[in-house]
Amino acid sequence: MEVLITGGAGFIGSHLAEALIAQGHSVIALDNLSTGRIENVKHLDGNSSFQLVIGSILDEFLVDKLVERCDIIYHLAAAVGVKLIVEHPLESMTTNIKGSEIVFSMAHRYRKKVLVTSSSEIYGKNTQGPLKEDDDRILGSPLKSRWSYSTSKAVDEILAYIYWKEMNLPTVIVRLFNVVGPRQTGAYGMVVPRFVEQALKNEPLTVYGSGEQSRCFLYVSDAVKGLIQLMEHPQAVGGVFNLGSQEEISIKDLARKVIEIVGSNSEIKYVPYEEAYEEGFEDMERRIPDISRVRSLIGFQPTVNLEEVIKIMVEEKRKELFEQG
Ligand code: UDP
Repeated sequence: MEVLITGGAGFIGSHLAEALIAQGHSVIALDNLSTGRIENVKHLDGNSSFQLVIGSILDEFLVDKLVERCDIIYHLAAAVGVKLIVEHPLESMTTNIKGSEIVFSMAHRYRKKVLVTSSSEIYGKNTQGPLKEDDDRILGSPLKSRWSYSTSKAVDEILAYIYWKEMNLPTVIVRLFNVVGPRQTGAYGMVVPRFVEQALKNEPLTVYGSGEQSRCFLYVSDAVKGLIQLMEHPQAVGGVFNLGSQEEISIKDLARKVIEIVGSNSEIKYVPYEEAYEEGFEDMERRIPDISRVRSLIGFQPTVNLEEVIKIMVEEKRKELFEQG
């Protein structure tokens, strides 16, 4: 099959491209390189099954052409990272809402199946855990960037869902919970690559808030496997699925774990949220997915635990820092 991946030069998109090519598909990666990077796909350069198209999902003409050419679409292009969203809220909203509307309308025009990646940000401040797909969204003011981002991803989900309900377009919605792994950059705020780099440089690990807030981190290869299986499963159409790990850890303990694995001399530095992000910033205290739906449909179960993930990311970063001298 010819597969279009929007955001195909991004962290998750590049791993997805690799996995699909390994299965014998050809991939067109559409990416405007805003947060995606050429280096993420440079090892695929010259592979006849891979094509990188540098352009935006906001370019209707381009999206039209690419959607016409492909058989199926993984729509991953979106503003990512809490830091980026807080710093560029307008661009984040436009990319997520207008961009998705363009992708879905072209998919509808040419009747192509779309899988869209949503986010655990959807649940907002709901600290009840584990979170089920039908659980309530609890949000703060839409004037706070984080909640507007959550809302923009909800609009993506609504679009995917109503294109399915009203237009019978086959769509699948996947809510990703803190996906981590090689090629992920800390530049947009993601905590694991940031801690790994800080620990390797023996710099203080910046824990925001009390560090009591918790997350579950999913290894990117497990995420990619889940995405592909959901795309392929006929009963996933019209559905929404959490995809994540259930290995919960507080951010304070994550910092300790990274320091220990690296064997670093780093200390932990507590940074107030308003200093790290913006005045009035609200975090999510706890975010653990209920994965029974995806488990029962495709037998999903993460295979790489957090300790192994950190080790893999440390090795990658260590090599990169060594090469940089
Ligand atoms: N975080 C932190 N130090 C950092 C970056 C992030 O303590 O240098 C915290 C952040 O406030 C949040 C958690 O780590 O509580 C996960 O942050 P990330 O941006 O990776 O993901 P998300 O907030 O989207 O879950």
